[in-house]
Amino acid sequence: AYCFCSDSGTLLLAQQQTSLARQLTMEAELHRALAENEFHLEYQPVFDHYGDRMVAVEALLRWRKPDGEMVPPDQFIPIAEKSRLIVQIGRWVVRQACRDLAVLHSAGLAGLRVNVNMAAPEFTNTSLPYELTEVVASCGIAARHLCLELTEGLVMKQPEKVLPVMQMLRQLGFHISLDDFGIGHSSLSRLKKLPITSLKIDRSFVAGLPHDRGDGAIVRSIIDLGRHMKLDVVAEGVETDAQLLYLAQFGCTYLQGYLLSRPLPLQQLIALHHNGKQQ
Ligand code: C2E
Ligand code: CA
Ligand code: CA
Ligand code: CA
Repeated sequence: AYCFCSDSGTLLLAQQQTSLARQLTMEAELHRALAENEFHLEYQPVFDHYGDRMVAVEALLRWRKPDGEMVPPDQFIPIAEKSRLIVQIGRWVVRQACRDLAVLHSAGLAGLRVNVNMAAPEFTNTSLPYELTEVVASCGIAARHLCLELTEGLVMKQPEKVLPVMQMLRQLGFHISLDDFGIGHSSLSRLKKLPITSLKIDRSFVAGLPHDRGDGAIVRSIIDLGRHMKLDVVAEGVETDAQLLYLAQFGCTYLQGYLLSRPLPLQQLIALHHNGKQQ
């Protein structure tokens, strides 16, 4: 028995060391990525529920390593969050997204909004509202053109830190969306007090439409909740016509997903807009 414990202890230690080593390597690579411009953004359109008018785009971070390998954000964002590198990365993202939005406005997409994903360490920073005000002003866009997406979990974990930042952002005119809504455990009484402008139904619920009765019930209650609270409701991950029809039928205001468009590089997004107008 002693032998078994000792062996499994050694194994566990070895596993921890490899994952720590991997994390440190990636951290060093992320520093380099920022310094050497290895990041870029893609934009996924958000459409109104007829699927014909682009009202916003969501900025999604892409990392191409020097050897050409693409690393998905789900793999590097959690590591960047642990090391607080996410704050620097997030600053780069928001600046680039606002610059690109100005380009989109001049390319004929006047009034379009950009949604930017935010992580916990960015949102507990009390100077965020001032930094963002400076960014939008220097890009020549208005605060209402920038929507910050944050997850339910982020708000509920540290409400005393996050709420004042949210309140100030709203007062300054920024939009705020609650991302991945439905999978966290926010109490409805707390939700009522949040200074937000939209709810984003998590993709996992949209995936079960139209046949899964549980997912259907959840999606319909989120749509109702949004209506009562006067919030826009966005469904993400719309992949089929049947899902689109279901969501439109129950009054979901905005739709996003591969069925309508994949995330696109800026130039392709402009081309999509111009082609759409010719048809
Ligand atoms: P998210 O904010 O929930 O973003 C939606 C993800 O779903 C994106 O994955 C998008 O490409 C994907 N998606 C969109 N439509 C569909 C669809 O119809 N079907 C399916 N299966 N997937 C769809 P992506 O780009 O890999 O991003 C993953 C996550 O990484 C994001 O989830 C977000 O949490 C995070 N992320 C991405 N960019 C940033 C960023 O700039 N900052 C921060 N903090 N997080 C980011
Ligand atoms: Ca998002
Ligand atoms: Ca989401
Ligand atoms: Ca997500």
